Amino acid sequence: MKFRNENINEHGYIYGKWMTAPNTWTITFGNVYCYLLIGEEKAILFDTAYGAGNLRKFVEEITDKPVMVVNSHGHFDHTGGNAWWSEVWAGPGAEEVCKEAFSPEMEAEMKKKTYPDYTVHTVHEGDVFDLGGRELEVIEIPAHHESSIALLDRTNRNLYTGDEMEAGQVLLFVRHKMIPTKEIVAAHLANMKKLKAREAEFDMIYPAHNGPQLYKDYIDDFIALSESILNGTATIMPDTAGFGMGPDMNGSPFAGSVKLERAQYGKASFVYARDF
Ligand SMILES: [Zn+2]
Repeated sequence: MKFRNENINEHGYIYGKWMTAPNTWTITFGNVYCYLLIGEEKAILFDTAYGAGNLRKFVEEITDKPVMVVNSHGHFDHTGGNAWWSEVWAGPGAEEVCKEAFSPEMEAEMKKKTYPDYTVHTVHEGDVFDLGGRELEVIEIPAHHESSIALLDRTNRNLYTGDEMEAGQVLLFVRHKMIPTKEIVAAHLANMKKLKAREAEFDMIYPAHNGPQLYKDYIDDFIALSESILNGTATIMPDTAGFGMGPDMNGSPFAGSVKLERAQYGKASFVYARDF
């Protein structure tokens, strides 16, 4: 008997994949989640993780439809595999940062891929990707990063939110251009109110890190969390959630640059720079 684990690529890295709904695949690399959304005529790959191995080959073993890459935002743990494709689509501002690798090793890997100078097309609020029998609408939700978008799968009633919502902690100190924390929190609050106004259109929320689908009531908790920070009543936590480190995140790439703090309300949690 011949065994073949197709989740192991030529570098030995392991991608995971599972089908969460018909024609809807979660592709994992560590705790980064990408989503392959397949329509009748084409497919969208929402994010490309760090780019290890041949992600394109991995995806093309799942679907034979043409694949469009769309990024949730410009951070390299979501754009690292873009260079397997000649063009990608992303929110305003992603083009400025999406080729900035997190390390020289990652940059060297990117340069080895087929299209290191790939084209970035900017998408905007209300744009719709029609995959054939499946429509995905762009909703701009910039806070964690200024280029963040969500995709609303109108057909299957799911919402894909990148790094703006997750079960661990949403990081509010890693934008390309930093602004005061309370301005970021206010932006996140406005975004959540925008999603809340449309919650009749989706059932589940798919984050890009730290756990599988979220129920819609995470939106309510994020709204209450932002309001508690803005009005000075936030509950400050002694540690980080998904990272399991102290609030200074010693041992993480984020340590030392700013004084960090984590606040929580219900299931929702932010880590931000304490600059107020
Ligand atoms: Zn991010």
